[in-house]
Amino acid sequence: MKSEKWIGAHVSAAGGVFNAPVNEYEIGGTALGLFTKNQRQWKAKPLSEDVIQQFKKECEKRGYHQGNILPHASYLINPGAPDKEKLEKSRAALLDEMQRCEQLGIGLLNFHPGSHLNQHTPEECLQVIADSINYVLFETKNVMAVLENTAGQGTNMGWHLDHLASIMDQVDDKSRVAVCIDTCHAHAAGYDLTTEAAYEQTMQEIMDTVGLDKLAGIHLNDAKADLGSRKDRHASIGEGTMGVLPFQLMMNDSRLDEIPMILETPQPEKWEQEIAWLKAQINT
Ligand code: ZN
Ligand code: MN
Ligand code: MN
Repeated sequence: MKSEKWIGAHVSAAGGVFNAPVNEYEIGGTALGLFTKNQRQWKAKPLSEDVIQQFKKECEKRGYHQGNILPHASYLINPGAPDKEKLEKSRAALLDEMQRCEQLGIGLLNFHPGSHLNQHTPEECLQVIADSINYVLFETKNVMAVLENTAGQGTNMGWHLDHLASIMDQVDDKSRVAVCIDTCHAHAAGYDLTTEAAYEQTMQEIMDTVGLDKLAGIHLNDAKADLGSRKDRHASIGEGTMGVLPFQLMMNDSRLDEIPMILETPQPEKWEQEIAWLKAQINT
């Protein structure tokens, strides 16, 4: 059986969500990253049937499907919010994003676990996050909740793999919760990928905590800050503190076959080149 790497970038959906697959295909992406709504606003107008059909058509034409599309939810959402009002707002917004995915035929939704804001304990926060996931999974059928590891800035949870494992452990429907590993965030959180031995050790930790079968996606980003800095600052591949080796290793790691691997690097004009470079690293 032929194994494949699915590589893309988080592209613009300006002018309509159906423009994202067009933009992705233009830069050679074989995975699709996007926002299904404006990420800086709480509310978005509902998707019309025309928009949904056009999105599906543009995706189908270019080979984007349930397995290789990984949308990102709004940064405003805090599924672990300590404040009741903000939590309700976050849960409603997360549900809306899940429903948009369902309407668009997308099987995954990536989001940041949440922050405790020093208003409840990290343990309470993890429980609240799990409850938020239970809520949105109950209200939907065909979308998987994908927890992204974070850099651990401020009071963000999810930088430690144990946080992700603990959240998943408290989710009722374990078949619909998974994780996405962001390489920049992992580096910032102290998970080293920069030598062959360190890479293997970090991969082993991922397998031992969340499990390989729960790895639903990768965000491919180099980091501007140092290992363990807890700073969320992305760099273009090869221009940061991680070097190119982690990405070369990933391109040849069969454990990462057929999951979306999405660039969130800061220079869109380099995405085409970065995707081509990543593809060229396979089997070298
Ligand atoms: Zn993210
Ligand atoms: Mn990310
Ligand atoms: Mn980030």
